[in-house]
Amino acid sequence: AKEQGKSRYARYTEAMDTCAVEHARLGAELRRALAAGELFLLYQPVVALPDGELRGVEALVRWRHPERGMVSPAQFIPVAERNGMIVEIGAWVLREACRQMADWRRRYGAAPLSRMAVNVSARQLREPEFAQAVADVLEETGLAPEDLLLEITETAVFDGGLALETVRAVRELGVGVALDDFGTGHSSLGLLRTCPVDALKVDKLFVDGVTGTAEQSAIAASLAQIARALRLRIVAEGVETSAQARRLYQLGYRLAQGFHFARPLPAERIDGMLAARAGH
Ligand code: C2E
Ligand code: CA
Ligand code: CA
Ligand code: CA
Repeated sequence: AKEQGKSRYARYTEAMDTCAVEHARLGAELRRALAAGELFLLYQPVVALPDGELRGVEALVRWRHPERGMVSPAQFIPVAERNGMIVEIGAWVLREACRQMADWRRRYGAAPLSRMAVNVSARQLREPEFAQAVADVLEETGLAPEDLLLEITETAVFDGGLALETVRAVRELGVGVALDDFGTGHSSLGLLRTCPVDALKVDKLFVDGVTGTAEQSAIAASLAQIARALRLRIVAEGVETSAQARRLYQLGYRLAQGFHFARPLPAERIDGMLAARAGH
C-alpha cells in the first residue's frame, strides 16, 4: 500500500511539473503570438427568444499556434492572467472588437446588432488606467459607448477596491457592464447591491438544469425574477437544445446564447447575416 501511495504521489508531482513547465512555455510564447498576429476573434451571436433572431455578439479570442494548432482561451487566458500578458491581450481584444463593431454599424446601421460584448479579466480591471483606455478606444474607433458591453466576473470585482471604482467610471462613459458566469461565485446576490451593472449572464451550469426537475431549474427561474425586479437584462448562456430554449422563454428569458443557435463565428459569417438581413 505504501509503494502504491508513493507512486501515486510521484505521478501527481510529475503532472504538476509538466503543468508548470507548460505554463511557462505558453506564457513566453504568448508575447510572441500577439506580436506575430496569431490571435484573432470569433463572434458568438446573442439571440432573441423565442425566434432566435440576432441581437448582439460576444467577442471570443482564439490563438492559432503555428505548431500546436488552435489553443483554447480556457488554456491560455489563465496563463496570461498570471504573467500579466492579459493586459496587452485584453487591450488588443477591446480595440479589435470595437473596430469591428464600428465597421458593422457604418455598413448596416443600428439594427439588428445592439451590442458588442467583450470579456474583461480581473487583472485588467485592476489597472488604474482601464476606464481611460476604454474611452480612448471608443474615440479612436468612433464606436458609441452604448454599443459596447463589458463582461466582468464577480470575483474580479471582489479582487480589489479599485475594480468597483473602475466599473463605475466605465458606466459613466455610457458603456454597459454585465456580470459574467453569474451565480457561480461566492456572493452574486450581495454584489448586485454594491456593484451597478446593466446585465447578468447566467452560467451554462444553471441553463443545463432548466429542463430537469423543479429543483434543478429553480436557480435559473429565480435569476430571471431577480433580473426583472432589478430591471437588468439577462442572458442565458450555453443553450444547447430547443427544449432548453423553450423552457427559458417560459421562465422569462428573452436573450440567449449557445450552440443551439450559433457557435462562435468568424467576422465574415456575421457579415453575411447582417447583409442578408439588410437585403444586400
Ligand atoms: P465565457 O466568457 O463564459 O464564454 C463562453 C464560453 O462558452 C465560450 O468558450 C463559448 O464558446 C462557450 N459556449 C458558448 N455556447 C456554448 C454551448 O452551447 N455549449 C458549450 N459547451 N459551450 C458554449 P471559449 O470561447 O472557449 O471561451 C472560454 C472562456 O475564456 C470564456 O468564457 C472567457 O472567460 C475566456 N475568454 C474568451 N475570450 C476572452 C477574451 O477576449 N478576454 C478574456 N479576458 N477572457 C476571454
Ligand atoms: Ca463572457
Ligand atoms: Ca460566461
Ligand atoms: Ca465561463
